[in-house]
Amino acid sequence: MLLSKATPKSERKKALDEYILKKRLKSTKQRDIIFDEFFNYPGQHVTVEELYEKLKKQNPKIGYATVYRTLKLFKECGLAFERNFGDGRARYEPVKFEGEHHDHLICIGCGRIIEFANLRIEQYSRGVAKLNDFEVLNHKLELYGYCSSCTRGRDK
Ligand SMILES: [Zn+2]
Ligand SMILES: [Zn+2]
Repeated sequence: MLLSKATPKSERKKALDEYILKKRLKSTKQRDIIFDEFFNYPGQHVTVEELYEKLKKQNPKIGYATVYRTLKLFKECGLAFERNFGDGRARYEPVKFEGEHHDHLICIGCGRIIEFANLRIEQYSRGVAKLNDFEVLNHKLELYGYCSSCTRGRDK
């Protein structure tokens, strides 16, 4: 991962607390637990199911719906990206810092997800938009295919 310095956890927590206050939501212990688990989750692009399964072991009282809603909330307040890689399951990943953007290569063989950030692609996209007098708010680029391990497996 070559992305620059990550947002410290305390700042994320502050942003979340502010958002909760603004939306007049109640702070809950469960949300804090989910917060800690999500932002410390080793793999990225976690599904609700995966995070729920992990949380359930230590916190049997946490329900699936709570995990689902909390991840949506993280997304709403700009702390998480929601991704959909064509398998019908929403995945979430922490936003590493404000304004962060990266794209993905998705292996349809083993499900591996590789992240990349390519300045030239970004510049080129802006050029295309400009040429069409188009204001871009967001974009996503997902390349589907086979990773190196899966390509090797297929050759045999
Ligand atoms: Zn693969
Ligand atoms: Zn990603």
